[in-house]
Amino acid sequence: MSSVDEFIAFLRRVADKWSTRYEVDRVFEADPAEGVPKYFTTAAYMYPSGPIHVGHGRTYLIADVIARFKRLLGYNVLFPMGFHYTGTPVLVRAEAISEGRVKELESMSTAFNVDLETLRKLGEPVAFARYFHELSKEAMKLYGLSIDWRREFTTIDPEYKSFIRWQFTKLLKLGLLVKGTHPVGWCPRHGMPVGMHDTEGDVEPEVGELTLIKFRDGEGRVYPVATLRPETVFGVTNVWVNPEAEYCLTEVGGETWVISCIAAEKFSYQLRRSSVLRRIPGRELVGLRLVNPATNEEVPVLSASFVNPKFGSGVVMSVPAHAPYDYVALRDYVTEELGGAWPQELLPRPLIAVPGYGEVPAKDVIELLGVRSQSDVGLLEEATKRVYRDEFERGVIREDAVKYLARQPRSTVEFFTKHVAGKSVKEARESSKELLRSLGAYDSMYEVINSPVYCRCGTEVVVKVLEEQWFIDYGNPKWKELAREALRSMEVVPEEARNGIEATIDWLRERACARTRGLGTELPWASGWVIEALSDSTIYMAFYTVIHRIRSLRIPAEKLGEEFWDYVFLGLGSASELAEKLGIRVKELEAIRREFLYWYPLDSRHSGKDLIPNHLTFFIFNHVAVFPRELWPRRIVANGWVLLEGARMSKSKGNVKLLKNLVEAYSPDALRLGLVLGAEVDQDLDLRENVVISAARQLARVYETVRRVWAESEDVDMGKADEWLRGTLRQHVASYVDEMERVKLRSVAIRVFFKMLEDLETYLKWAGRVGRAARDYIATWVKMMSPFTPFLAEELWESLGYGGYVAKSALPRELYEQRDVEFDVEQRYLELVLNDVRSVLEVTEGDVVVLYTASRELTELVKRVAEMVSLGGELKDVVKALYEEATRAGIGDVFRALKLVHEAVNYITPAAVLKYIENKGYLDEYEILTKYRGLLAVKLGVREVRVYSASDPGAPDYGGRKRRALPLRPGIYLTSSLS
Ligand SMILES: [Zn+2]
Repeated sequence: MSSVDEFIAFLRRVADKWSTRYEVDRVFEADPAEGVPKYFTTAAYMYPSGPIHVGHGRTYLIADVIARFKRLLGYNVLFPMGFHYTGTPVLVRAEAISEGRVKELESMSTAFNVDLETLRKLGEPVAFARYFHELSKEAMKLYGLSIDWRREFTTIDPEYKSFIRWQFTKLLKLGLLVKGTHPVGWCPRHGMPVGMHDTEGDVEPEVGELTLIKFRDGEGRVYPVATLRPETVFGVTNVWVNPEAEYCLTEVGGETWVISCIAAEKFSYQLRRSSVLRRIPGRELVGLRLVNPATNEEVPVLSASFVNPKFGSGVVMSVPAHAPYDYVALRDYVTEELGGAWPQELLPRPLIAVPGYGEVPAKDVIELLGVRSQSDVGLLEEATKRVYRDEFERGVIREDAVKYLARQPRSTVEFFTKHVAGKSVKEARESSKELLRSLGAYDSMYEVINSPVYCRCGTEVVVKVLEEQWFIDYGNPKWKELAREALRSMEVVPEEARNGIEATIDWLRERACARTRGLGTELPWASGWVIEALSDSTIYMAFYTVIHRIRSLRIPAEKLGEEFWDYVFLGLGSASELAEKLGIRVKELEAIRREFLYWYPLDSRHSGKDLIPNHLTFFIFNHVAVFPRELWPRRIVANGWVLLEGARMSKSKGNVKLLKNLVEAYSPDALRLGLVLGAEVDQDLDLRENVVISAARQLARVYETVRRVWAESEDVDMGKADEWLRGTLRQHVASYVDEMERVKLRSVAIRVFFKMLEDLETYLKWAGRVGRAARDYIATWVKMMSPFTPFLAEELWESLGYGGYVAKSALPRELYEQRDVEFDVEQRYLELVLNDVRSVLEVTEGDVVVLYTASRELTELVKRVAEMVSLGGELKDVVKALYEEATRAGIGDVFRALKLVHEAVNYITPAAVLKYIENKGYLDEYEILTKYRGLLAVKLGVREVRVYSASDPGAPDYGGRKRRALPLRPGIYLTSSLS
């Protein structure tokens, strides 16, 4: 085919043909088969709040490649898929349509590639979800996902709701679902809790507690400064307010507080009884003098534009020695207002000693980073991050800081000396709180620490303390311990993701699990509360194993009570009584239970790494709560992001790539291969068009080579070349299996689509004709391609004359279950020789290579070195023995010999050499090189390779290389003029 475009068009036709056949022949419908090992894999189902995009596409592809690979190994594989209608994402979009918000409609139309007229009909949430569900499902089929579609469901199906009600009743009975009062991220407009999936840009609002320290003015009014670092209160020089912000004189618990009016409003969400008495412009507060309760000293109130009235109380304490913002703001103030002369009371007060910093760490970092003014926001953020981190990790409160407490009574000074001075920042933070509490100066409030976070409706998320609401108690220590136990027994890919899950298990606390709006399942005992999306998606993998049976038996959903799920998933209760109630035969009910037990536990769970701090961890928690140990999941695979030309994909940036568009543009196979070649699974994948196009080009080469070679093949044995090709195939298959099991998909794809093509081409040049081994090679090779490029592999499989589907074929077991050690060592040795000759070829011209192998006696040396090294022999003994041997054999440059032999042994690995020598007595280099002379010539691109043994007295000595022959390092002579 002449151009890559034509080949892509061909790939599209092939995909259409085979995806239709897959569907007609129900190729991926998997039923239990007793005695056949099973493999059950799932990937996180998508929200149909828009069409499937390439982010989903990457995760689903990884799951699919592994599923198809496991089929090649003879596993009975189940890969199902459902659709997550729960929650607000669907709702918010449907609302935008029904309210006729033109701007949003237009941006959806562009982003989703759907015309306005169609979109306008999707104002009803379920209709909206259905539409994008169907669209996405079609794209998945064409993309080649090997899914058993009989088990498809949505999370608003009545059977699913019954299942979720059962799960939540279980959690309630186990005491893991609790009613309580806890802070949550909250949308004031919607009046409901919000989590990651409810916010713009999918940000989880992090709820934290700020300390409020009560500074007071002469009239006893309280100015509660908000801070995450209460221990720095001893180093305060002044208080900041924002002159442009509005402050409210507010009655709080019998005191009069001065806080930003926005803070006053937030208090109402946090169960603080408060009422606003009067509003005051921020600038009127500037110039007041307040008493720092920690030092009993007066400090001035100054103005600062960086004070954010939306964060905390809108009143901030200034600690110039340890906070870069404060230092720079004070420096600006002193320069602009006071002509550069620092008044005594505003001088930075060194409080924390940190190794590597001077007395005023904030100043050090500012000078290091070159921060010029308050407007260098990026640098100031960086400076702040550094100082806060270093002080928290390595800082100690200075002993001499006690001087700041000169105005305090003795008891306070004593407490400070005993519990704050000399302590680490971590310890001092807690004891400072205690001190403030005893001084009647402590309070706290909740805040969204990573603010601003916005609800999908555009409203900023606040913290609300929810009273008497339902929470899943992920803080339960016994539950955490079980979750840790499950994680320990699980495989995690990549292994580094394990830390993220472990950390999440540690910090998770009570989590609000219901919302007042959105699609989903109501809490059975609390009407009006719908279980939210990250809570109704934790154990649904079990549901896949039985839903198709429930449907085909036409069991009405209202009959699926608690006892049904108890029986099916936990084996509780009486099958005969239950069957009668359900109106089905006992045998049919038992088959449902058996099918669950056949597929469970789940073998592999796939998702993007963004789900580590929530879904993947909840998945573990809920499994260990509901199921016995033997049914706990076995593996998690968390893949990296998909970037588009270097940028993170996000709907707000409008750079989301729809899977359907990509599949149409490049064909499913080229896209799949491009996605796999773009990055290893744990890496972020930068999707670039040229990678996909070059994948298509490589596929064209593979396709044409297979067709041509197959057509030219003969039923002949090509001797050494055939033997080599068979051995090489074994090696590829063994590595393929090993790398696939470790989910090193990029490595595998490079092997299959590049190295294996290269090796076949080498064979053709060496053998001259196409022998029997090439036919076997190709047949297995096409199977190996099929997980990555299923449609092209099917097309090839058919054109080779094989019946059935390559997707249902098996790799020959003997190719990967036992390695051919002898062949492996020979090839490793050849590689070593090839590398040596290539480095000579770089500096010398010539198309005839003469190789001298070392004498038998010297070769024996390798055996001894290998033995000594593998037995952990002392280096000096090894050196001594080698020296003696080499001297006896008459090698002049003993030290060179030592070095080379040592390198060579390390390269081939002592263990492999030993094993080989055990079999053969010794490594016969002469025999190996003679056997592969032809192969070496092809690989080196030279006319001829001649091999002599150094111990052959009749062999000519070209260039004195005969004498230079060492074990594993043949003497090399290169020329163009040998007759
Ligand atoms: Zn909202």
